[in-house]
Amino acid sequence: MSVTVQAVLDSLSRIPGPDGRTPLDRSPALSEIVVQGDKVMFSIAIDPRRAAEFEPLRRAAAAAVGHLAGVSSALVSLTAEQPAKAATPAHDHGHAHRRPAQPSADDKKLPGVTHIVAVASGKGGVGKSTTAANFALALQALGLKVGLLDADIYGPSVPRLFNVHGQPEVSDDEKLIPKEPFGLKVMSIGFLVDEEAPMVWRGPMVMSAVTQLLRDVAWAPLDVLVVDMPPGTGDAQLTLAQNVPISGAVIVSTPQDLALIDARRGISMFQKVQVPILGVIENMSYFVCPNCGSRHDIFAHGGARAEAERLGVKFLGEIPLTMDIRERSDSGRPIVISAPDSPQTAIYLSIASAVWEQLSSGTHVKPAPSIVIE
Ligand code: ADP
Repeated sequence: MSVTVQAVLDSLSRIPGPDGRTPLDRSPALSEIVVQGDKVMFSIAIDPRRAAEFEPLRRAAAAAVGHLAGVSSALVSLTAEQPAKAATPAHDHGHAHRRPAQPSADDKKLPGVTHIVAVASGKGGVGKSTTAANFALALQALGLKVGLLDADIYGPSVPRLFNVHGQPEVSDDEKLIPKEPFGLKVMSIGFLVDEEAPMVWRGPMVMSAVTQLLRDVAWAPLDVLVVDMPPGTGDAQLTLAQNVPISGAVIVSTPQDLALIDARRGISMFQKVQVPILGVIENMSYFVCPNCGSRHDIFAHGGARAEAERLGVKFLGEIPLTMDIRERSDSGRPIVISAPDSPQTAIYLSIASAVWEQLSSGTHVKPAPSIVIE
């Protein structure tokens, strides 16, 4: 039987909150408690400049809840976000919560990780996760040390793309140990929550969970950590873009007009929080017939390239819609690993080279063009 929220609150009543006096269960710093099966998630709002000081509090809260009957894991994180305890609708367009305080550059750094690259899309279903996985593997094929964080809380896909499942192991210094399919360090929110359970998250919970997956995972040393972002441009995504120390963002779009409008929103979101855009990828750009090998421009391909040019951001490449990409992704062996000499892999490799060239030379850090959305 699932633990009750009341039992969780009771276990927190013996722990003083961040002010040192008010018990955590009654502290305004405590977020909503989310119970999913045998997993419990919540966050504690603190001043981000004093994050290290509050780590013992976080651990104490996690231990207290972790010991309750019916709880297999407690995902507790420190966040700069002030929780809105009133029950807000559980979607990311809610504006009920306040914007988080902006942490300083030092608070945001991730030790031992040189670059964080966000892979984002203005909407779901454009192949963002498939692209992020193959892009990460292509960076690795260039000889880099690479990790992939599946932060797509609404539909984690790393378990499916790499056929890896189950709870991660925990190291002696209490860090989650990433799984390593094909030598790529991967961590997914899907390892920690039941993949089948309906996911109802509020914006702040998304942020706390992702913050924990960044900070409490043994990522280092890495040249690049690829973050598969939740799709969309709502508050949750904006908060993430703002709080995660991202070197740059890659936007995935399909060629259709509607997807392009969303892609434009994605670009504008990152620019709003001064995250450089590394470029745009057009996925499902054209269809290659598996029988005759001929190419069909189903969606009048080229829309994303034209849009990128119009917006003054780099166009990184066109990935075709092929059975091979889909079948290999869905069977847990992405194409860059299972067909390294295929023409599709060559495209992912060229995209990875173009991104790494910008990151390693620092040319991506230039004043961004400003985009106006009517
Ligand atoms: P998103 O992360 O944007 O929701 P996914 O990466 O999960 O999208 O992709 C959605 C579906 O489309 C998956 O079944 C995936 O295998 C398929 N897919 C993605 N990109 C391609 C492609 N280039 N060719 C064929 N199928 C693709």
